[in-house]
Amino acid sequence: MDKGTLITTGKAKSLYETNDSDYLILHYRDDTSAFDGKKVESLEGKGSINNRFNAFIMEFLEKEGIPTHFERLLSNTDSLVKKLEMVPVECVIRNVTAGSICKRLGLEEGKDLDPSTFEFFYKDDELGDPMINDYHIRSFGWATQDQIDKMQELTFAVNRSLQKLFSDSGMILVDYKLEFGSYKGDLLLGDEFTPDGCRVWDSETREKLDKDRFRQNLGDVVESYEIIAKKLGVI
Ligand code: ADP
Ligand code: UDP
Repeated sequence: MDKGTLITTGKAKSLYETNDSDYLILHYRDDTSAFDGKKVESLEGKGSINNRFNAFIMEFLEKEGIPTHFERLLSNTDSLVKKLEMVPVECVIRNVTAGSICKRLGLEEGKDLDPSTFEFFYKDDELGDPMINDYHIRSFGWATQDQIDKMQELTFAVNRSLQKLFSDSGMILVDYKLEFGSYKGDLLLGDEFTPDGCRVWDSETREKLDKDRFRQNLGDVVESYEIIAKKLGVI
């Protein structure tokens, strides 16, 4: 599949057209950003590890019955995906308190949530990705009720599969963000599942192995992503 015209450059990936209008190439760059693009750095090897990590997770999720946009790896940094009409909403599940929920609700980090909790955010960096509810999504026409139900159902199904995958490999899946889009009338999981968009701690030491290492200047960012990948058998 040939890489055609560059369509858009996001904060971490670039999207290219292909010679088939149903497909896109996602190019994973080394660029790493946090705080809605206010902290940016290039971390050598991050694009490659994230591209391979995402391929592993998407293929695992397909086997678990989750429909995804992922087609196949094209190179260390490129993947072929179905072109989706993206829903401009981020679906977040939290199994353990961390990040923005701690600030918003005045919580300590590291408390188990039972049941796990779910949040929607509007995908808009300039507004700082504000938290929204399903009424906003319907009122502003970002998705239909059916799509909202499907996004929630699939995000929880992903949680059941990935919580076990990570815990069987000695890690805690603290939280994560998913994005969905429609393809010929079907809602599919899009974008990526990588350590850039989730929190993962070592089960024994509770050491942070995800993008919080970048957000909190803890160092060894790519090395930590590689530790997760090795524990899961990605590399
Ligand atoms: P950001 O949008 O947060 O800056 P990225 O650099 O990861 O992040 O950009 C990737 C962009 O591609 C995002 O806007 C995402 O919603 C979009 N995207 C991901 N998968 C697909 C897909 N299959 N079809 C169309 N757009 C997609
Ligand atoms: N997340 C993401 N992109 C965003 C916002 C959040 O991938 O634009 C992920 C983040 O990495 C974490 C989860 O979603 O795994 C919950 O993020 P949170 O709301 O705690 O925001 P943060 O404090 O990480 O900005």
